Amino acid sequence: MDTKSLKVSVIGEIDACCHELSELSLKIHSNPELGFQEVKAAHWLTQYLEVNGFSIEQGICGLPTAFKASYGKGKPVIAILAEYDALPDLGHACGHNLIAAGAIGAGVATRLAIDQFGGSILVIGTPAEELFGGKVIMIDRGAFNNLDIAMMVHPGTCDTATIHALACQTLEAEFFGKAAHAAARPEAGINALEAMLQSFAAINSLRQHIKSTARIHGIITDGGEAANIVPARSAGNFVVRAEDVAYLDELKQKVLNCFIGAAKMSGARLEYKWGDVCYAPMRNNLTLAQLFAQNMQSLGRSVALYDPDSAFGSTDMGNVSQIIPGIHPLVAIAPVEVAHHSPQFALAAASEAGSRGMLDAAKALAMTVVDLVANPEMVGKVKEEFEQTK
Ligand SMILES: [Zn+2]
Ligand SMILES: [Zn+2]
Repeated sequence: MDTKSLKVSVIGEIDACCHELSELSLKIHSNPELGFQEVKAAHWLTQYLEVNGFSIEQGICGLPTAFKASYGKGKPVIAILAEYDALPDLGHACGHNLIAAGAIGAGVATRLAIDQFGGSILVIGTPAEELFGGKVIMIDRGAFNNLDIAMMVHPGTCDTATIHALACQTLEAEFFGKAAHAAARPEAGINALEAMLQSFAAINSLRQHIKSTARIHGIITDGGEAANIVPARSAGNFVVRAEDVAYLDELKQKVLNCFIGAAKMSGARLEYKWGDVCYAPMRNNLTLAQLFAQNMQSLGRSVALYDPDSAFGSTDMGNVSQIIPGIHPLVAIAPVEVAHHSPQFALAAASEAGSRGMLDAAKALAMTVVDLVANPEMVGKVKEEFEQTK
């Protein structure tokens, strides 16, 4: 079969199981599981892949909800990545249920291409994208060794083949002061909450003088016990993001200085801990992105190669894209005013438009795999670009 007819067959495969995929996505949506607790999702996904001829390795990298499903053998080894974790309180407000269903749909549909041309297709289940950077842990534990290419599609509010995702690290900060009666003996207290508020003020001042693409944001998780007790402890969580790791490191020091200064001013003792995982910026492989965009266009979606309005925070796919060629396109499932991580986005992730987006993403991913396995020189081009942009 030539590439063109193979793509038609691959689309047919996904159309044939579109109801199953949509139902699975809705089932994950209505059973939201937080990072590293995605037991049901991982089970349903691997079950589907197993029934469809994939060999399954469950709980890879010492992470019970991570998995690797493989079909075919030899090179190229192309991975489609699935995410399936939800957010606290908001459920699937990032639409990872759609990523998961689309990934398995794409994986199963590519069997036709693998049967004809050889090579291997992997569907890798990557837990805990939102809170713990699961892929970063999986990289350290070798899950992405010996892969040639990794691809995934994330739901969004526009169709774009590349994203602008920032390097990012979290910070937990705690101040320890001294409790005292806030009216009778205020002079005996050291106010840990004031230290935290001064840190926020200092960060707000700093924000005027940072690069416009960088981001610093935080919340207070402990601000004291009662208004008439000088707060002896305060705590907060923060995220620092920047376009590249070098500027992130510079900014992290400046942010930390805000806390150190506040500790000095208030007399409260500072304890802090940077998150174990540092999300890397996304390195979009344009050769892959172009293939994906063309395939999406053939489905009637007008896909931009780059959309300056496609705001995206950070993703652990950024780390994967630093070690192997990869893409993380967005597929539109909601109007542009609907933000990720909002209740409206959670609704979109269970909508008709959500299902349509998931199925189109699966088809375009599968067609991109066809392009790659049918044209080994294309894999070479993808790798060449990766090496040149290192
Ligand atoms: Zn997400
Ligand atoms: Zn998210």
